[in-house]
Amino acid sequence: MIVKAKYLDTEFEGFSEGGVRTSVHVPRYKVLFDIGGFNHEKTHVENLLVTHGHMDHACGIPFYISQRSLQKLKAPNIYVNEAMFENTKKILDLYSEIEGFQYNYNLIKTPVNTEFELNQNTFFKAYKTTHRIPSQGYTIFDKVQKLKKEYLNLDANEIHQLKKNGTILTDLISKPMISFSGDTQIEYILDHEDVRNSKILFMECTYISDDRNVARAREWGHTHLDEIFHHADKFKNEKIVLIHFSKRYPKNKIREIVKNKTPDILKGRIETFII
Ligand SMILES: [Zn+2]
Ligand SMILES: [Zn+2]
Repeated sequence: MIVKAKYLDTEFEGFSEGGVRTSVHVPRYKVLFDIGGFNHEKTHVENLLVTHGHMDHACGIPFYISQRSLQKLKAPNIYVNEAMFENTKKILDLYSEIEGFQYNYNLIKTPVNTEFELNQNTFFKAYKTTHRIPSQGYTIFDKVQKLKKEYLNLDANEIHQLKKNGTILTDLISKPMISFSGDTQIEYILDHEDVRNSKILFMECTYISDDRNVARAREWGHTHLDEIFHHADKFKNEKIVLIHFSKRYPKNKIREIVKNKTPDILKGRIETFII
């Protein structure tokens, strides 16, 4: 079973349960964020962006490659943080040996703050997150043309005339569209402007009530709902999709607590991604 959701023209689907499984597909960008668990319908997705090596985010890597190799699909691009690169390679070599056939894949070391192209108009960057093991979130950017400041007040006729004269009216800018946190403490948000400005943000929110308080959440490298709402004014995102809720909370309790605690400034912008 998977959750399907949509914000404007961007669809996303998958599952996320804290400590159990997380994987979110964004068809628009042909990207799968994490693969903690496996969904056969997603074998065709060519780009896999892995946040960290915990099993609830990464256990599906060998199976995904194995399935694609058997189906003779193109080698997928699997982006991982630098710290887990060598060990992931070793695991994949061993599994290929166990299964008795060649695994076909591109495993890519993905340093933070570095551009990786997805297509001509889109790239992504990894940004450091703070967790118990090396981890990183990902931000996808669209390259868009934006009218230069000096031309903002012109009317259509004047713009048309300048265009005709060959004047370059726009700048090419990079617009952060989607950020995906993986597992992290709240610093991921506080430290990265592109994450705060992303149109859509997938944000981990493992704990939501006092039985596991903020200190406990931080001790385990996670974020508590109270921290997100405490910093509510920092988030410039149009949509914030909360993921990775602990299995200790019943679904209706999550919805109720999130609804009751949401500060005015975030009303209408918070979604819960619950399977
Ligand atoms: Zn996790
Ligand atoms: Zn983790």
